[in-house]
Amino acid sequence: MKDKLQLMIPGPTPVPERVLLAMARHPIGHRSGEFQAIVARTTEQLKWLHQTSQDVLVLAGSGTAAMEAGIINVLSRGDKVICGDNGKFGERWVKVAKAYGLDVEVIKAEWGQPLDPEAFRAALEADSAKAIKAVIITHSETSTGVINDLETINRHVKAHGEALIVVDAVTSLGATSVPVEAWGLDVVCSGSQKGYMIPPGLGFVAMGPRAWEAQKRSDLPKFYLDLERYRKAAEGNSNPFTPAVNLYFALEAALDLMQDEGLDAIFARHERHRRASQAAMQALGLPLFAAEGYGSPAITAVAPANLDAEALRKAVKSRYDILLAGGQDHLKGQVFRIGHLGFVCDRDVLTAVAAIEGALVELGQPPAQPGAGVAAAAAILQG
Ligand SMILES: *Cc1c(COP(=O)(O)O)cnc(C)c1O
Repeated sequence: MKDKLQLMIPGPTPVPERVLLAMARHPIGHRSGEFQAIVARTTEQLKWLHQTSQDVLVLAGSGTAAMEAGIINVLSRGDKVICGDNGKFGERWVKVAKAYGLDVEVIKAEWGQPLDPEAFRAALEADSAKAIKAVIITHSETSTGVINDLETINRHVKAHGEALIVVDAVTSLGATSVPVEAWGLDVVCSGSQKGYMIPPGLGFVAMGPRAWEAQKRSDLPKFYLDLERYRKAAEGNSNPFTPAVNLYFALEAALDLMQDEGLDAIFARHERHRRASQAAMQALGLPLFAAEGYGSPAITAVAPANLDAEALRKAVKSRYDILLAGGQDHLKGQVFRIGHLGFVCDRDVLTAVAAIEGALVELGQPPAQPGAGVAAAAAILQG
């Protein structure tokens, strides 16, 4: 049915009506007092979301622009870095680092498995010359639905003393706690179309004091993504270039909604939806793709046996107007993914589960127990 599409992909995520309406006005001058007030306010709100008193800068660009900025602002030609790679977005970190000629050591894990913090500890402890300048990881690996143990890996980075930690928090920020200042996370990147509940187009980079020290020394080429320009402009509640003015309207409205709900409530909701989605898939006899205990609060990846995951995804889309995400690269056809990130309520999860069961029936593979998925999800949602 027209205009009934329910997005259950891990970005773009659904946008609240209030946020859409906030955008539906003429742009205003980006050097006006009115706009400066919005920059001032959203800057404070962004610090709240990142649990930090330090800088959070806003770029007009997607999450990858924030990732690229995160690398080129704190590193220099030929620097040695460690990249964690256990999925599509870990791979992207490696590609960006190599594009800038960094000396990249990759710590890999199989897709579906978490990164092993011990591997990071060993590499960092062996580096007595302190050659490693950064450890670069993805917190929530969207392609596999795995959440990596950022807290432990970061502890090993801190014990090293020299290396910075650079984090892709694109699908963890706004889904689970990322206490930027308390953990001393140096660079944290995110994007608007994920946990922020606004359309694509903004990238965010949080920078700590050690990141700014490194920024002064960094000699990688940069112009549009030179964060020092953004920091200076932010002192006057401004932007170095024309910002995405209407997306700022959206940002302010979305962060208002988030502050009304409260961080703890937001994280509890995502955790509840993770548990409900996982329980429902297991009740339907559909195996989870992420290793047990490492399911992302933003996304549940499912690997149905004896069934084309793409056929199931298409049946859910054409019959129920619900868009699930497919598997990426070699997982295409083997995995589908349920996004439960951002503006998602219990009803959305129940509906998606019911639609998946409906599609199983349509594909001739009904669950042993009719309604088992919804029953399992409801049991968790009702607490
Ligand atoms: C979506 C996403 C990104 C950013 O992708 P863009 O398409 O550039 O916004 C980066 N990392 C992860 C883990 C993501 O899910």
